[in-house]
Amino acid sequence: MSARSTNASTESAATNPILTAEILSIGSELTVGGTRDTNAGELARELSDAGVAVLRLTALPDDLDVVADAFRQSTQRAHLTLSTGGLGPTPDDLTREAIAAVCGEFPAVDDRLEAWLRELWFRRGMPFPEINLKQAWLIPSAKAIPNRNGTAPGWWVERPGGRVIVALPGPPREMRPMWRDAVLPRLHKCGLGVERVTRTLRLWGVGESQAADLIGEAVLRRANPAVATYARSDSVDVRISAVGENGRDAATIASEAEAAIRAVLGGFVWGTGDIGWAEAIGRALADLDRTLVVAEFGTGGAFAALCGELPSLVRMTTTGAAGKLPPDDEQTVSDLADAVRRDAGADVGLAICARPQGGDTSAVVAVSSPEGSVVERRTVFQGGPQGRARAALTGASILLQHLTGATERTPTEPAREAEGVR
Ligand code: ATP
Repeated sequence: MSARSTNASTESAATNPILTAEILSIGSELTVGGTRDTNAGELARELSDAGVAVLRLTALPDDLDVVADAFRQSTQRAHLTLSTGGLGPTPDDLTREAIAAVCGEFPAVDDRLEAWLRELWFRRGMPFPEINLKQAWLIPSAKAIPNRNGTAPGWWVERPGGRVIVALPGPPREMRPMWRDAVLPRLHKCGLGVERVTRTLRLWGVGESQAADLIGEAVLRRANPAVATYARSDSVDVRISAVGENGRDAATIASEAEAAIRAVLGGFVWGTGDIGWAEAIGRALADLDRTLVVAEFGTGGAFAALCGELPSLVRMTTTGAAGKLPPDDEQTVSDLADAVRRDAGADVGLAICARPQGGDTSAVVAVSSPEGSVVERRTVFQGGPQGRARAALTGASILLQHLTGATERTPTEPAREAEGVR
């Protein structure tokens, strides 16, 4: 290991386009559950957004054979193998050794990296710990990626057939800038991904399995456009992801799929993309130039937690889960919405009254506005805090529907069907 090399160039030769990737998260602290692997998810999302198919995310212990084997296999499957972690100075930081083994090369101390490292300690007036010399290692196929936030340079390694291995440090505060400033631009130069259009429809009032049923298995199994459903805490999301195919561009393919899904689920769509409830309601109020007052009972403040920061909010009255609840007949809750609206001088009044009902939660929601009033009773799935949160979401959905449908809605429009369950 004492050989010297001067291979610290940061420029890379041309490689093939990167269309597929695998991510290796290295470190026993990940595999024993001591540290949560956030790096892989972040990188997978960025690669997917760039139109790269991410084939696998794998967490690995600090075991040279295991890590080397993972690199060997992933470089056979994917154009890009991206690792994080294991670039520290200690003997259990094995990423460099593993890549060297896969390449059949031997690491050697790089003069420029060594000088840079020694300088870091010199500037702090501290003696250089020789153990850190390992962080100046390179192999002939590797180029160093500068680390401005730590002592572990990354590695950029080109393999036969245009395959690329990139090793990044584990700490997110080192990994992220290295990825963003050095690696991603270089990958783009290689040709990164294919044009991909992604659309997300956010649904409420329908369960995930019901949504999947309505979309149909044939659509959900198709590779392009890929359509998937996700049960999130505040929404059931349908994600459509398309790439260009047979001369048709990605946007056209995505739009066709979106139209077909809206044809069966359009009535449940409350937002698109990554919008949240507060933003959707805030936008609807701003569009109408309206203010809102809210009275919630039995929700434990769940609506306030969801939408408490709205600029158009005049007042929020909350009686917690265990507080004194008003009678929850439709007339009383409707009167409450009228009364808080009048008392606060707001344009729109929202009253939500939630109560346990068996293992579930009953929610009565009333909206009072210049366009008229609606009052609806729904039973939402689950009791306790989950049920209360869902009651608040139901209130948000009835309010939003009232605001966005304000021009067509009549004061006597009937309530929609019961809240969907999964
Ligand atoms: P350094 O030498 O700068 O410590 P390294 O590449 O050797 O970098 P590791 O020793 O593997 O990194 O991990 C250092 C720290 O980085 C961990 O203690 C953990 O806090 C964080 N970390 C490592 N891997 C991940 C990961 N996949 N997701 C989130 N955090 C991580």
